[in-house]
Amino acid sequence: MLLLTIRLLSLLVGTTHINFKILNMKTLTKEAQEAITPAMALELLKSGNTRFVENLKLNRNLLQQANETSDGQHPFAVILSCIDSRTSAELIFDQGLGDIFSVRIAGNIINEDILGSMEFGCKVAGSKIIVVLGHTSCGAVKGACDHVELGNLTGLLAKIEPAVEAEKTEKENRNSKNSAFVEKVSEINVRQTVEAIMERSPILKEMIQDGSVGIIGGMHEIATGKVTFFEDDLVNHGL
Ligand SMILES: [Zn+2]
Repeated sequence: MLLLTIRLLSLLVGTTHINFKILNMKTLTKEAQEAITPAMALELLKSGNTRFVENLKLNRNLLQQANETSDGQHPFAVILSCIDSRTSAELIFDQGLGDIFSVRIAGNIINEDILGSMEFGCKVAGSKIIVVLGHTSCGAVKGACDHVELGNLTGLLAKIEPAVEAEKTEKENRNSKNSAFVEKVSEINVRQTVEAIMERSPILKEMIQDGSVGIIGGMHEIATGKVTFFEDDLVNHGL
């Protein structure tokens, strides 16, 4: 039965969006999750975002999915994104219940607890890809660009400051009023976060290096919903 399921999935996960659509409509089982490679996981997210952008989201029965996942979950991806109300990962990648671990924090930064959550998602629960997703017009990034200090937010924004400092191309108006500067800092912040995950989590680094997990950054354009992945950032040879 397991082999049959894997062979069926191999047939379903071809190169067309239609095939991905069939796979994506199903609530993920352990067998289905195990059959998904990091490269396939990336394609599932790309095809889901295409559906979102084209307003062709799948008609899932979420109540049925709640029932089907009640005994366990087998998500294929861990997605770190911002708390911004316009950037819900499940929505912009058109995913259902049980499909993704959604880690959300202002400015999509990391800390030990978030790394622990990612390690759980990949090492314990079997997810195949980690996505660090920034977005345009990010308030947290704007705050870091303006060096805002406000309560506990000060410490959070300090984690984005290295990206602000690393941006060297904008010589004038290095503040939130300069949207080009803000978007460049956002992209640098994503790239630095991908690197930091590798540096600070030996568990994830080993899984990425042995090909069992992929990691990639990307930017979400909130005006269109389109996600652009940083293909040059592929750390995993399997992707
Ligand atoms: Zn944001």
